[in-house]
Amino acid sequence: MNRTSLAWIDDELASLEKAGLRRRLSARQGPQTATIHIEGRTLINFGANDYLGLAADQRLVEAVRRALEEEAWGGGASPLVTGRSMLHAALERRLAQFEGTEAALLFPSGFAANSATIAALAGKGDALFSDAKNHASIIDGCRLSGAEVAVYRHGDVDHLAELLAQSSGHRRRLIVTDSLFSMDGDLAPLPCLAELAERYDAMLLVDEAHATGVFGKQGRGVSEHFQCEEGVDIRVGTLSKALGSMGGFVAGPQNLIDLLANRARGYVFSTAAPAAMCAAGLAALDIIRDEPNRRRELLEKAERLRAQLLQQGWDLGSSTSQILPVYGGDPNRVMGIVANLREQGLLVPGIRPPTVPEGESLLRISLSWSHTEAMLERLLEGMQQEIQESM
Ligand SMILES: *Cc1c(COP(=O)(O)O)cnc(C)c1O
Repeated sequence: MNRTSLAWIDDELASLEKAGLRRRLSARQGPQTATIHIEGRTLINFGANDYLGLAADQRLVEAVRRALEEEAWGGGASPLVTGRSMLHAALERRLAQFEGTEAALLFPSGFAANSATIAALAGKGDALFSDAKNHASIIDGCRLSGAEVAVYRHGDVDHLAELLAQSSGHRRRLIVTDSLFSMDGDLAPLPCLAELAERYDAMLLVDEAHATGVFGKQGRGVSEHFQCEEGVDIRVGTLSKALGSMGGFVAGPQNLIDLLANRARGYVFSTAAPAAMCAAGLAALDIIRDEPNRRRELLEKAERLRAQLLQQGWDLGSSTSQILPVYGGDPNRVMGIVANLREQGLLVPGIRPPTVPEGESLLRISLSWSHTEAMLERLLEGMQQEIQESM
C-alpha cells in the first residue's frame, strides 16, 4: 500500500527549512536552573520563564514528594467527576485568598485557562476586544468563542476606545489583554483599560501569566502594581512561570467560577491535574508570600541590566520588566548573535516571525532571580563583543 495522504507534510517542512524558520526540539538534561545542560553543552540559561528560581527549589520537590505518598500520582478523571482532590480545593481557596477574590478555578495549564474561559464568556452576538500582541492562548480563545473579534493596536487605548464606540448591538463585550507582554516585556495600560471597560460596560479579562509572583507588593501582578485590581473582572494567571510549577488559574467572583466550572470546555472535558501538582503550587505561594525580596531583587537586577545594555547601544524597545527584548531587526542577524553567544556558553533564545512581526526579530533575555552577578557579567561581555562586531 502506498499511502500519500500525509505527503504534503514533507513539503510544508521543506518550505519552513527554506525560509530558515524550521525549529527542532532538543531535550534538557537535569533540572531547569540558571545553568543548564543541553545538546552536550553547559550553558548559562537566559531562556526560561523561571523568574524567581523556584522550578528546582527543594521545597517544591519536598512538597510534591510528601503529596505523592498520600495521593499517589494520577488524577484519573475530570474535576466534575472524581478528579478534584482536597489538594485541588485547598489550592483554589489559596489562590482566591492570594488574589483577594471570592473564588478561583484551577486549569491544567494557563493555555487552557485562557482559551476555555474566553470561549465560555463570549459567543455569537458578542464582541471581543483584543490587544494585537496578546498571547496565542487568548487569540485561540477569541476564535473558539465565535464572537466578533476587534483587534486594537498594541497598548493603544485611543484605538480601543474608538472600536468600543463603534460597536453597538452586541449582547456582551469583553476586553482581553496580557498584563506583561511575553516578547516585548512591556506593561498593558491597565488603569486606562479598566476605565474604558467601566465606561462601555464591558468585562475586562487580564492575563497575568508573566507577572504573577513578580509584579505588585504581594506579587499579584501588574493589576496590583498599578492598583487597579478593582477594575479587573476576570484574572488569569499561571503557576508555570514565576511559581516554578504547572497549571493555570482564573480568579474572580463566585458566580464567574461556578459558570466556568459548568461551561469552560477545557476544564469540564479535561482530566484534573495530579493532586501532587497542587502541592507544588501551594508551596510556591508560601515562598511568594514569605520571600518578597526575590521579586524586588529580580526587578532591580533587570533595571541594572537594561541600563547596561542600553549603554552598549542596544535597542530594548519599551521593556520595563524582567523580560528584556534586544531588537535586531533581521532574523539572520539575530540568529547569528544567538550562535555567537552560544559559543560563549550563553543560551539566549532568538525570536523570529511568525512569533513576532516581520522586522521585529529579537533576542529574548529572560532574567531570573537565580542569575548571579558573574552570569550577568558574562552576558554583558558577550553582548559587548556582538555590538562591536556589528558596528
Ligand atoms: C505562557 C503563557 C500562557 C500559558 O501558560 P501555560 O501555563 O504555560 O500554559 C498564557 N498566557 C501568556 C501571556 C503566556 O505567556
